[in-house]
Amino acid sequence: MRMWNVAPSVLCRKHLLGEHVELHMVVGSIKRGKNLGRFITDGLIETGKISARHKALAKEMTRRGYNHASPLDYTDTLKLGKVNPTVSLNELARRCPDCAALQGQGE
Ligand SMILES: [Zn+2]
Ligand SMILES: [Zn+2]
Repeated sequence: MRMWNVAPSVLCRKHLLGEHVELHMVVGSIKRGKNLGRFITDGLIETGKISARHKALAKEMTRRGYNHASPLDYTDTLKLGKVNPTVSLNELARRCPDCAALQGQGE
C-alpha cells in the first residue's frame, strides 16, 4: 500500500487506479485496527491526507472518464506518517515509462 501524493495528472492509468484502490485498503486496515508500522516508517502512507487524496484521485478518475463509485468514509485521528512527493516522482519515473512520459509533459 502506497500513497504517491503527487499531482494526480502525472499518474498513468495503472498508478492512478492503483493508488485509489490502495487508499481504500489503507482505510480498511485502519478500521480493522491493524498497525500500519512499516508503511508509516518507510514514508509510504500519510494518514492525515487520506481523505483529501481520495477526493483528488476520484476527481481525476472522473475527469479521465473512468468509473468511480466508491465513496470513502474516513476522518483521520491518527496523524501518522509523511510522504515525500519528490521521492514519489523519482520512483514513478524510474519504474514506469508511462508515468515518466506524463512527468515529461508537465501539467
Ligand atoms: Zn474510491
Ligand atoms: Zn505509471
